[in-house]
Amino acid sequence: MNLRYDLHCHSTASDGALTPSELVKRAKAKNVTALALTDHDTLKGQQEAKIAAENNQINYISGIELSTTWERKCFHIVGLNFDLEAVALSSGIEKLQIQRKQRAERISALLEKKGISGAYQFVTEQAGEGMITRSHFADFLFQHQHVKSRQDAFDKYLGAGKSAFVNTIWADLHDAVGWIQAAGGVAVVAHPLRYKLTASWMRRFLAAFKESGGQAIEVVTGRSSVEDIRVSMNYAKKFELTASLGSDFHVPDQWVELGRLAPLPENIQPVWELF
Ligand code: AMP
Ligand code: MN
Ligand code: MN
Ligand code: MN
Repeated sequence: MNLRYDLHCHSTASDGALTPSELVKRAKAKNVTALALTDHDTLKGQQEAKIAAENNQINYISGIELSTTWERKCFHIVGLNFDLEAVALSSGIEKLQIQRKQRAERISALLEKKGISGAYQFVTEQAGEGMITRSHFADFLFQHQHVKSRQDAFDKYLGAGKSAFVNTIWADLHDAVGWIQAAGGVAVVAHPLRYKLTASWMRRFLAAFKESGGQAIEVVTGRSSVEDIRVSMNYAKKFELTASLGSDFHVPDQWVELGRLAPLPENIQPVWELF
């Protein structure tokens, strides 16, 4: 039987709106039959998602989306199908979690300087035990009418180089790929076209990723055009990476839906053949 995969999405353990159980129910309703929850820098939602998936006859694949830095640029690396008990990964992410908290404090302080108070209390309450992300700050700025839209929040305050941007050196790319590998998983370049790299930067990045032990790249995401898929597939082939697909779903009834994905091109090896 052909499974319908979605290997990239978020829950309340990071910046998603649904709890892991709610997310699995929505996946079921959208006919997803194989799911990985990939929250930012945390494994917190994994057990709940796994149990809910089992109860809904969905194949569960463990997942995470790691914040990494390579050549001073930020890249998201998805880890899939690793051992949830592996210490390499769970201890590796501890520093990222501290960095996220410290960054949230610094973003809040920068907003305070701009005369915008209350951010830290809002984002910590919203995130609860989950990771605080810039999405939480965007929600704060939007809900408190400091900006006209969430995108506006990134354009005015949170985006790279803007007034409340805090440049963070995340996990080293090589280390992060190593944690995933040590946990028996597959490292995947998330949304490769979102970094706005020139072709030569992309080739250097993919060479470094591959050398670190990376094995896959997202060829189909929730926002991919036909042309995007073609470009990503060509990178996959050139660097002998398998192809992953995932919606990067965060919030219901916004732009991208869980499981709403173009099929992977047929002439490329899917990442799940490595599972
Ligand atoms: P971060 O906390 O820096 O990892 O950012 C978390 C989330 O912010 C990402 O998962 C995106 O969903 C969102 N995000 C990042 N950049 C932008 C942007 N320029 N516009 C809108 N959303 C963004
Ligand atoms: Mn996110
Ligand atoms: Mn991402
Ligand atoms: Mn994501």
